[in-house]
Parts: sequence; C-alpha cells; structure tokens
Amino acid sequence: MSVLTMKNVKKSFGDVQVLRDISLTVEHGQVLAIIGPSGSGKGTIMKSLLASREDTVLSVSMTTRAPRPGEIDGYHYHFVTREEFEKTIAEDGFLEYAEYNGNFYGTPEAPIRRLLNEGKNVMLEIEVQGAEKVMDHRSDVVSIFITTPSFEELERRLRGRATEPEGVIVKRLKTAQYELSRAFRYQYIVLNDEVEAATERISKIIDAENMRYSRMENTILEVLKDVSTQ
Ligand code: ADP
Ligand code: 5GP
Repeated sequence: MSVLTMKNVKKSFGDVQVLRDISLTVEHGQVLAIIGPSGSGKGTIMKSLLASREDTVLSVSMTTRAPRPGEIDGYHYHFVTREEFEKTIAEDGFLEYAEYNGNFYGTPEAPIRRLLNEGKNVMLEIEVQGAEKVMDHRSDVVSIFITTPSFEELERRLRGRATEPEGVIVKRLKTAQYELSRAFRYQYIVLNDEVEAATERISKIIDAENMRYSRMENTILEVLKDVSTQ
C-alpha cells in the first residue's frame, strides 16, 4: 500500500460534488487485530499467513509470562520482568496492555507506527480487553475473531498443544467462554476448521480492506485528473 496524503480534496461536475471535501491521510498499511480464545489457532494461522504474504508482519508483544519451551525472546515475545513492563507503561510506550491470567501483555507502539509507514499490514495477536482498547483508540483497526467449529474442538486443541498444566487449561477454557460471548464486537469471524482455509479467509479480508474507498481514492483522483470539470 503506497503512501497517500490528501488535504481538503474537492472535485465537482457542475453542481454535483463527486469527491467529498475531506482531509484524508492514508499513509500506512492496515492494523489487523486477531482475536480469539487461547487454542483457537491464532498463532498457527498467523504463521501460515506470514509465510504467504510479504506485505504482512506480526507485532511482537511484551509479556511478563515465562517463555514456553521453544519460544524465542524478541520473536515470539519480548519477555520482560514486571519492573521493565511497568517502566514501559510509565513511558506511555504501549498502544494497549492488559492483564491476562496473572501475567501482563502489551503492544509496543513505536515499531507499529514504523511498520505502517513502511506500508506493511501489522497483525496484533491480543486478547479481548486489549483488542477493545485498540479499537477504541483507532477506528481503522480491522478486527478478526478466530473460532474453532465447536467448544469440544477448542478443548481438544488446547489439551493437544500440551503447553499448559491442567489448572491453566481450565482457566483458559473459562476465559474462552467469555471471549466467545464478546465475538459480536468484531468485524469478521473466521472459522479455523482447516489451517489453509482459515489463512485464505484472512488473506481475502486483507485484500477486500485494501479496496475500501479511503484506500482507493487516489485511483479515482488519478482517473479524474485530466477530465474537464468546466
Ligand atoms: P492460539 O495461538 O490461538 O492459542 P495455537 O495456534 O497454538 O492457538 O493452536 C492451538 C493448537 O491447535 C495447536 O496445537 C495447533 O497445532 C492446533 N491447531 C491449530 N489450528 C488447527 C486446525 N485447523 N486443525 C487442527 N489443529 C489445529
Ligand atoms: P499466551 O500466554 O497464550 O501467549 O497469550 C495469552 C493471551 O494473551 C492470548 O489471548 C494472546 O492473544 C494475548 N496477548 C498476546 N500479546 C498480547 C498483547 O500485546 N496485548 C494483549 N492485550 N494481549 C496479548
């Protein structure tokens, strides 16, 4: 997505105004909030999406949670102490942050701004409280809720991943019920029955969002550029 900045754009044919009188600044890619219960497949789908779309990157969150086996600092998360996390809050460095099952998770703002200005779509993999804060902050966020075909399947995947002890799984399933009950807040619901199909569904959303009027207005202006408007 190329950088576009237009101020007070107006064009009329006779009495008919064909472009709105607006100040429009579209200078970045899309922010995509990927939401869904733990175990719904967000991580799996995003990995698959990153492999298939060069224009899309993942925001690396900061967390006070301990790394799981195989998780890499700076890639899966920035793993930090509670003190480091609180310092970033004090410096106003988060787009949003939230407490989830006893740990803090936050989205650092500066790298996102940089990536958007480079024209990248930035995916945020965040829980519902965080997503709702981001959506309140930025009206342009594309929100996508991932769900399994059934609650049984969610439980099966969570247990199959075998990354959490039983107590944590029970807690996450309880949280999942709440998260599913908030699904109406999001613009798109993507069913993760098969990884490849779910990835393609998200890719189609990104392509459709790129065809919104606000992102295509420069094309219309280009077409109208040499048209006599009397
Ligand atoms: P989340 O990031 O939402 O917590 P994960 O991506 O870790 O979820 O997926 C949870 C588990 O379910 C993982 O073991 C993953 O391999 C598996 N999984 C993800 N998508 C599917 C799918 N479409 N079919 C079957 N298993 C899946
Ligand atoms: P996990 O411990 O399984 O990696 O993540 C737990 C939950 O925290 C998931 O629902 C995940 O989407 C969410 N999460 C990860 N990063 C962030 C973040 O930066 N902000 C918020 N609000 N939630 C996050």
